[in-house]
Amino acid sequence: MTEIAYRDPDFETLERDDVLALQHSRLAALGQRLEQIPEWQEHFARAGLTPRDLADPQALAALPTLDKEDLRARYPYPLLTVPVSDVARFCSTSGTTGLPVVFGFTDADLDLLAGQMARIFATIGLGPEDRVYQGYTGGMWLGGVSMDLGLRALGATNFPLGPGRGELAIQWLVDQGHTAGFFTLLWYMHLATLAREKGIDPRRDWQLRLGICGGQAISKAFQDEVEATMPEGFRAHDLYGSTEAGGPVVAVPCAHSHPADQNHLINEDSVLTEIVDPQTLEPVAPGEVGEIIITTLVKQASPVLRWRTRDLVRLAEHPYDCPCGRRGLPLIGRVIGRSDDMLKVRGVMVFPSQIEDIVATTAGTAKDAWQIYVTEERQQLEQLDVEIERDTASSRSVDEIADEVQSQIAARLGIRARVACRPEGTLPRYEAKAERVLRR
Ligand SMILES: [Zn+2]
Repeated sequence: MTEIAYRDPDFETLERDDVLALQHSRLAALGQRLEQIPEWQEHFARAGLTPRDLADPQALAALPTLDKEDLRARYPYPLLTVPVSDVARFCSTSGTTGLPVVFGFTDADLDLLAGQMARIFATIGLGPEDRVYQGYTGGMWLGGVSMDLGLRALGATNFPLGPGRGELAIQWLVDQGHTAGFFTLLWYMHLATLAREKGIDPRRDWQLRLGICGGQAISKAFQDEVEATMPEGFRAHDLYGSTEAGGPVVAVPCAHSHPADQNHLINEDSVLTEIVDPQTLEPVAPGEVGEIIITTLVKQASPVLRWRTRDLVRLAEHPYDCPCGRRGLPLIGRVIGRSDDMLKVRGVMVFPSQIEDIVATTAGTAKDAWQIYVTEERQQLEQLDVEIERDTASSRSVDEIADEVQSQIAARLGIRARVACRPEGTLPRYEAKAERVLRR
C-alpha cells in the first residue's frame, strides 16, 4: 500500500468532533458576512431566521434548501455576495437545460480552489514529480481551471492538452511519458482503442499510473475494465464536485479506500456536506442512500447554503475508520444516480448506472454505447427497453448477448426488460454528458 501523504496533516488527521467544531465556527463567520447582504437576509427570513443565527449549529438544518430555480430567479449574478469588480473570474454551469448560471471567484476563492485541488491530488498519491496530461476544458467551465490551479499548487508538471486530439494524445503519452491523466473514462477507453489501432500498446508503451475521471456517473465495473487496459498498477479515481460547490472538490478516494470504491469528503473545512433523505431531508444513517447537500463555508463570491445537488450516494457502512487516518472525513460511495434520474419502472427503483454495470460485465458488448428507453402510461413508467451493441470482435451472437443482459436485469433489478442487441456503431456516442435515458 502506498505511503500516506497528507497535504494538510493538521486538518486531515482531526477526529470527527473537531471537524464539526471547525465547521461550526466557520458557519458563524459566514453568517456575519451574509448579514450584510439583503438577498441573503431575505433567504434566511423565509425560515424565520437571520444570517447571524448560523452561530447556532442547529440553524443550518432549519434553513430552506437552494435549488436551480432559486439561482435562475436571481439571474444574471445569483447570490454573488461581492461586487462584480471584486470577482477575478467567473465560471458557469453547463446549462444543458436553460441558460447557464455563473459563479464568481475572488482572488481568495481561486487560492482556496488551488488548495482544495492540491489536497485532492496529494490524497490520490500525485506529487511534484508527476507529468499530467490535463484533458479538461477551460473557458467558462470550472473543470480545466481547477485542475490547472491545483497542479500548479502541488508543483506537478501540467500538459494541458484539453479535450479531443486523440491522435496527438496517444503519441505524446509515449513520447512525453505522462504519469497521470485527467479525463473521462470514456476518453481513456477511446484512446486505448485508438492506440492499439496504431500499433501502440497502452500497457507497455505508456507510463500512466494515476487517473482522475470526474464529470460522469460511471459504474465501478467500467472503471475496472479501463484500469485493466492501462499499465500495471494504474488506478483511475472518481472525483466528485460541482460548480455550485466551488469546483470538483467534494470527494475523492485515497489509496486505501479506492479498492472498496469509497471516497473521502476531503474538503470538509471549506465544503460542508450533508447526506440526507431526498424526501424528508433528514440525515441518513451509515450504509444508507441519500442526496448530497452542499454548503460552502469560506468561499467569498457566490457561496451556497444547503445546495441540493440531486446526486444520490451511499454513506459508507463505516464512514469514520479509513486506515489512511482521515477519520474525521467520512467515506461515501460513488454517485449512484440523480434523484431526478431515478426511474420507477412498475414500482421498482432503477438507476441507469445499474444497467451500465450489467452491460460492462457482459462479454461481447460494446462498452461505450447503450441506451435506455422508457414508456410512460398514465404517469407510470410501464416498460423498460434497453438497446446495446455487439462488439465486432466478439464471437458471441447478438441473441446470446441480449439474452444474457435481459436475464441479468431480471436477476439483479427484479424487472423484465426488453433487450435488443445491435451491430457496433448503431447507437449514439456522447462526447460530454451522455443522455442514457430517453422517454417515449
Ligand atoms: Zn482513506
